[in-house]
Amino acid sequence: MAKTLDLVPVGEWGFFTLPRPMVIAGPCSAETEEQVMETARGLNEFGIHVFRAGIWKPRTHPGCFEGIGTEGLKWLQKVKKTYGMKVCTEIASEKHAYECIKYGIDMVWLGARTTANPFLVQEIADALRDTDIPVLVKNPVNPDLDLWIGALERLNRAGVKKLGVIHRGFSTSEKQAYRNDPGWKIAIELRTRYPELPFFADPSHMGGKREYLLELSQRAMDLGLEGLMIESHCNPAAALSDAGQQLTPDGLRNLLECGLKVRDNDSDSEAYREGIVQLRAQIDIIDENLLYSFASRMGVSKKIGQYKKEHNIAILQTSRWDSILAAMRERGAAYGLSDEFITTVFTAIHEESVRKQNEILEA
Ligand code: PEP
Ligand code: MN
Repeated sequence: MAKTLDLVPVGEWGFFTLPRPMVIAGPCSAETEEQVMETARGLNEFGIHVFRAGIWKPRTHPGCFEGIGTEGLKWLQKVKKTYGMKVCTEIASEKHAYECIKYGIDMVWLGARTTANPFLVQEIADALRDTDIPVLVKNPVNPDLDLWIGALERLNRAGVKKLGVIHRGFSTSEKQAYRNDPGWKIAIELRTRYPELPFFADPSHMGGKREYLLELSQRAMDLGLEGLMIESHCNPAAALSDAGQQLTPDGLRNLLECGLKVRDNDSDSEAYREGIVQLRAQIDIIDENLLYSFASRMGVSKKIGQYKKEHNIAILQTSRWDSILAAMRERGAAYGLSDEFITTVFTAIHEESVRKQNEILEA
């Protein structure tokens, strides 16, 4: 059972205006005062209220632009003063945390490489103790849900109650179109365990290219996530980091206002409610039947276990299992069920079945 987090609802942070999505936008990196101010102006013009800019940049290779450093915090202060926007940046150490507190940064986030390091997360959590700064935690680079949750717990234990998450996908050695594997399954699992945690997607780092931003943002909205963090630069082609994935403020406006379709999470309409209640009743009956079928199947598994025991036969016969799985995948495809789904479900059924047979053997 998941431990609960002690949270202040995002509606009380004073950062975002509904309806969805809550948007955080701004350049990958703060580069110059002009670039920061020009980008903020463009974003503010169409109602973006939360501005991001990387001040310290975790780059893969040394010698790349590693961020402007503390100097850039003054530019964020200027954005705040000039446009009344909230400003946020990534922190990766205790020193960064203290600098942000000193310069009145409104919100911070932990990058994927930091979330993967419990020592750093603890150091940052201790530095932020007794402050009221909201913290967003990106998923760790590797698809490890517990590591992600552990980071949230460390911050929460240090008294950080304005907490949220950003899903930016997972590093992968497999060749694929996106820069990072969206691995939505893990995000959905986290959402299910902590539905009250404000949830942002970062389609910029997930996709790595402008052309993927709309489809990934749409997916995030369709999953019911609350927000998007998207990189935007006044002149993306000249960006010192992540040039291929940044949008101009106009491009972002176009994506949000013309491309993205945001469906409601719920509706007050009587007709909708009646329809959904009926459909859900059908699902409940089918689920009950599924349970009954699982239980019946396990009953037969136990009998098989008993039978094998009497005849001194080993429980696991991989060739039999291989042929069941192959048959189910083929039959499943005919019903329009995906290979991944069938494999996951039948692997789980098979594992439980082997457990049941083992119980009989050991009895
Ligand atoms: C960023 O948001 O600029 C960044 C470096 O992100 P990530 O930690 O997802 O790589
Ligand atoms: Mn970036």
